[in-house]
Order: sequence, then structure tokens, then C-alpha cells
Amino acid sequence: MSKDVEPIRSVKGMRDLLPPETWLWQRVEEEARQVFHAYNFDEIRTPILEPTALFTRSVGADTDIVTKEMYTFCDRGEESLTLRPEATASVVRAYTEHALYNRGGIHKFYYLGPMFRRDRPQKGRYRQFYQIGAEVLGSDHPSIDAEGIELVALLLDRVGIRQYTLFINSVGCPNCRAEYVRVLRQALRGVAAQMCADCQRRAETNPLRVLDCKVPGDQPLIERLPHIIDYLDAECRHHFDRVTQQLRERGVAYTINPRLVRGLDYYTRTTFEVTSGVLGAQNSLLGGGRYDGLSEMIGGPAAPGFGFAIGQDRLVLAVEAAGQLKVECPLEVYVAWMGDGALAPAGELARQLRRSGQRVEIAYQPLKLKRSLAIANKLGARFVVIIGEGELASGRYQVKDMTTGEQEAVERAEIERYLQAKREEAAPSET
Ligand code: AMP
Repeated sequence: MSKDVEPIRSVKGMRDLLPPETWLWQRVEEEARQVFHAYNFDEIRTPILEPTALFTRSVGADTDIVTKEMYTFCDRGEESLTLRPEATASVVRAYTEHALYNRGGIHKFYYLGPMFRRDRPQKGRYRQFYQIGAEVLGSDHPSIDAEGIELVALLLDRVGIRQYTLFINSVGCPNCRAEYVRVLRQALRGVAAQMCADCQRRAETNPLRVLDCKVPGDQPLIERLPHIIDYLDAECRHHFDRVTQQLRERGVAYTINPRLVRGLDYYTRTTFEVTSGVLGAQNSLLGGGRYDGLSEMIGGPAAPGFGFAIGQDRLVLAVEAAGQLKVECPLEVYVAWMGDGALAPAGELARQLRRSGQRVEIAYQPLKLKRSLAIANKLGARFVVIIGEGELASGRYQVKDMTTGEQEAVERAEIERYLQAKREEAAPSET
């Protein structure tokens, strides 16, 4: 490293994901894609930058995300842009912009990608973090909610996470919420003065947000506030009862949490969250719910929706803690060659094996056999193919099995088949 030049480091709260951890990230993504596929969801990719108004209008002007956490800048003095803090608003924008509602029916999307929130970084909380999420647009049927939650439960099971709590609640619709907010405001009048400064402000501007407060001293007061679930109108109550009934029918365990309103303004009716004890302070693994009014908030047609977002950083932490999902990306073959004449045939073999999808490494500088074997060992190669003058003359290359130490001379033309047979021997269940 140069002594004179200050090394450049990554931006605070934004981290590099390095191998072998990226193997696990990929495995988790593969499982997610498979589960989404099974439930007939299609991938959507929206831009990372959006007009700022998309989030101020949907997430809510009085939420922490919008007031404190967005990366917003003015693009050459023309337009205020924001790095997306979440993707639901973007998906609904795309749905409206492309008039997908004209195609009728239900649209089911999933996405994977980075989100940006300028929060205080700590374990499990980053300024660039990743979400795996899904949105269903075009239906307010309770089965959509139950199916979405069932999908989440299946995905968690697939990645080996079995210990978690699924909380569910209903935040009603604007109709019943107006009455609840009136009652809540009244209840807060008596206690707000004893609460944190944020809650004192929220008690006036957006009383529902008080329920999100994490300040320990406020918790006993919040516990005694009225529950929104007791103020649902008949339709919202019926919707909630059908969602929970279906969860029972689908064998998904849940706990009703009357305080669960979630930190975004667009939710209506169902809200849910999964927490995991292994995550420490940042224990929320994923969250979601129904947002029947969101499309209209951003200037679209009435379009009911339901979705969720899993924090992938936290999902990977929980997967590591559960230890069920084993990920290995071993090097299958190391091609060792000795003598200038062996380089081209060695390269040709490496090319052939790589084309058939095997993970292969080859050195391009001449090495002694001992050194090649040491490198192959360090790289964790399962096999080493050795090509020297003798092998070239006989047309039979030495194949060394690094797990057993056994070595055999194999006809050049047979090597691919030989390695395949060895692999099947080692893992008969995968064939
Ligand atoms: P939200 O979009 O706020 O409903 O969050 C959904 C999920 O995203 C949470 O349950 C977390 O797992 C994850 N998440 C939210 N904010 C962060 C962050 N700053 N760092 C890491 N994960 C986060």
C-alpha cells in the first residue's frame, strides 16, 4: 500500500459481500426464485433511482424513512431523485405506468435487489441492504394474503429457518382507521407528555406511528393504548378473520400482535412480520401486508395489492445461524502440466471440462508436480489431472482423487466420462 495516498474505503453502512459468503447469498436467491416460480410469480426489475415524490406520497411524509433516511439529491438542478428505500412503491408505479391493470387478472411479481436507507449502521442494519420481495396486484381477496404468507413460510423452511415468530394484525381501511385514530389521539392526550420527543410529535401529526416506537421507556404506556383490531369495521374484520382462518387451514402458525402497524403509511388491512431470536436487536426478518390504496396515492387507478419484503442480509444471518443450508462450491478439477509441450493439451482438457460445466483451474506458468499438487490441495480440488511427457506419449493422463489419494491412468478421450462416474459414485442421490 502506498504511504502517501489515503486508501479509499467503502461508504459507511455499505459493505462488500465477499466469497464464500456470496455462495450462500446465491443459494438463498436460488431457493427464493424456485419458491416464487412454484407460486407463479414473475420477476420484475425496476430502477434503483425514482422520483422522490414516489416515496414521499406512498411511504408517508411523516415516516422515519422519508424524514430521516432517504438518499435524495437534485439531479443537475432539474429533478429530485431518491435511491429507493423499498420497492413496493416502484412495483406499483411500474404496474400503473405500463397499464398492466388493462390486461385484467392478478399480477404476481417478485424482485431481488439493493435498497438504501440512511439509518444508524449496526449488525443486521445497513445503509445499502438487500430485499427479496413480492407483490400481488389486482385482488383484495383474503386468500391472496394467506397464500403470500404461506409462500414466506415455505421459503423459510427451504432455507432451514424453523425458529421464528410470525406476527399478524389488521390496520383496517381509511374508513375504520379514522375512528381508531380519533380514539388513539384522545388516549395519547393523557400520556404523550411522558413519552419520547418523537412520540410527542407523532401524537399530533400521525398517532399510528407511536405504535412503532422502540424507546424502552415508552413501551408500558404504548401497551395500554387502544388496539386498532377492536375498531375494525365489519368488512375489515371479516377480511382479517378469513386470512387467519386460512392460515390455520394451511398449517401456518401465527400470533396476533395488535401493535403491528409497520413503519409505512400505505398499509391497509393485513400487516405481518416475522421476527427471529437469532438476529439480536434487529430481529425483524421480513414484513409486509396489504396496501389497497397505494396505487391511487401515486396517481394510478384503484388497484388492491399485497406484498412483503424479506431482508436478505438478515435472512442470510439467520440461515447461517440455523446451519441447515450447506453451501459448498468446491473446485472439481485442477489440471497440472509439466513441460512446455503439455500446456496446449492441458488447456484443451480444461476447456472441454469447463464447457461441460465443471469448475476447473489451470496454472499458466510451468510448475513442478509437487507445487501443482500443493496448489490443488489449497484450492480444495476434488481431482487433479496430471499431464507430463509420459502421459502425452501414452495418451493416458493421470487422474488423482484428492479425497482418497488414489491415482489412475485414464485414456484422454475417457476423462470427462471417468470424472462424471466418480462424481456419481460419491453422490448417488443427486443423479
Ligand atoms: P420494511 O421495508 O421496512 O418493511 O423492511 C422489510 C425488511 O427489510 C425488514 O424486516 C428487514 O429484514 C429488512 N431491512 C429493513 N431495513 C433494513 C436495513 N437498514 N438493513 C438491513 N435490513 C433491513
